[in-house]
Order: sequence, then structure tokens, then C-alpha cells
Amino acid sequence: MSDEKENAKQIFPGAMYECVRCGTRVTGEELAKLPEPTCANCGYRAFRKVRRPGIKNLKGQ
Ligand SMILES: [Zn+2]
Repeated sequence: MSDEKENAKQIFPGAMYECVRCGTRVTGEELAKLPEPTCANCGYRAFRKVRRPGIKNLKGQ
């Protein structure tokens, strides 16, 4: 149950999401308001979680 797939099935309000089709970014809060996560730009319903901008937590390995 810990596999990380591209498409986010569960929306985390604190996370940032990106439409896998057109790349439009939307916050989890915005997606959570919708009855189902849909891209406002192209209508696609597949998102992937991206890092929130501004967080510079680079753990260089
Ligand atoms: Zn889109």
C-alpha cells in the first residue's frame, strides 16, 4: 500500500498538483473543493503531486 503512482488518487490539501496533460498547477485545497479533481484548463482528471514551490529542502545525495 505504499506504491507511489503518478496519478494522485488521494488529495492532500497541503500538497501541490500538476495536470499530467497540460501541466497546469493547482493546490490540493483547490482540488478538494471540486466534486472530483479536474483540470480547470483542459478538463483532464489525472494529476500528479509536485513539490510545493518555496520549499528548499534539498537533501543532496
Ligand atoms: Zn490540464
